[in-house]
Amino acid sequence: MLGTILYGAGDVRCEDVPEPKIIHPTDAIIRLSASCICGSDLWPYRGLNEVTSPRAMGHEYCGIVEEVGTAVTSVRPGQFVVGSFCISDNTCPHCRFGFQSSCEQGEFMVGAQAPYARVPLADGTLIATADVPQEDLIPSLLATSDVLGTGWYAADAARVRPGSTVVVVGDGAVGLMGVLAAKQMRAERIIAMSRHKTRQDLALAFGATDIVSERGDAGVARVKELTKGVGADSVLECVGTQEAMTQVLGCVRPGGSIGFVGVPHEVALDGETLFWSQASLQGGPAPVRRFLQHLMDLVLRREIEPGKVFDLTLPLADVAEGYRAMDERRAIKTLLEVA
Ligand SMILES: [Zn+2]
Repeated sequence: MLGTILYGAGDVRCEDVPEPKIIHPTDAIIRLSASCICGSDLWPYRGLNEVTSPRAMGHEYCGIVEEVGTAVTSVRPGQFVVGSFCISDNTCPHCRFGFQSSCEQGEFMVGAQAPYARVPLADGTLIATADVPQEDLIPSLLATSDVLGTGWYAADAARVRPGSTVVVVGDGAVGLMGVLAAKQMRAERIIAMSRHKTRQDLALAFGATDIVSERGDAGVARVKELTKGVGADSVLECVGTQEAMTQVLGCVRPGGSIGFVGVPHEVALDGETLFWSQASLQGGPAPVRRFLQHLMDLVLRREIEPGKVFDLTLPLADVAEGYRAMDERRAIKTLLEVA
């Protein structure tokens, strides 16, 4: 079959790879309904994470169960399933505490930019739907696997409440999902920081009430102005750079909360700044599994349409162009047709 392999910075290829097989009795093999490219895939693609050996790319997935190992009891062939990009047993102390992304048996999903993929720990990782969903729901169900789940976690970690004022730093796909999540959590004011027209429009469509296009000190000043000098109750960091984290600390009100889900790249937090900010801070890889059933239900009831975040659809064979388009910010997020 075809699969996606990253060889090094700027070098991603669609090529022949072996079909996945059951390795452990807890595995499942799924036939993907669609796949996609994640913003985090761009870190190694841009050479910001070292690539020491060829890497099978893709960690967002949904599809039909083809085969299960002998120990799998909760899903069966023919069912439509979604799983988190973090594999988890869903039974260990961290999973039971709601942090499945720190599962004692945890690992990251790999190789999902392909027609078939192996999902380890299938019982703990996958959730099946009652019926095979309608085709037009596939992009939104795929989004629950990571990008929506991560944006949702950012809002949850930032303690968004009904009536909250929220700032979202980052207008990539995760930031836009953070806007959607804050809206669902009934935030009253959602300020999206973005300087790109298409992303601003999508943020407004997902529920943003204000757009701030300024950055740095000017961005902080604008947020302060919009909040009558107070700052925001909840701030979502969805980038992973020092500039973004500095922005976040400038926008949060004393006693406010920060959810940070951008994978940090050389981000340093100054203890003294943090001390005087009086902000609470929670972040890390999103425990999507905690939210997954709820997010899938919202999609299946057509209450949310996170799939709108995909603004480019390509066949798997053109995966390299999908990476390029996202790298050059010509696309927010690329959906890959794998059938
Ligand atoms: Zn666990």
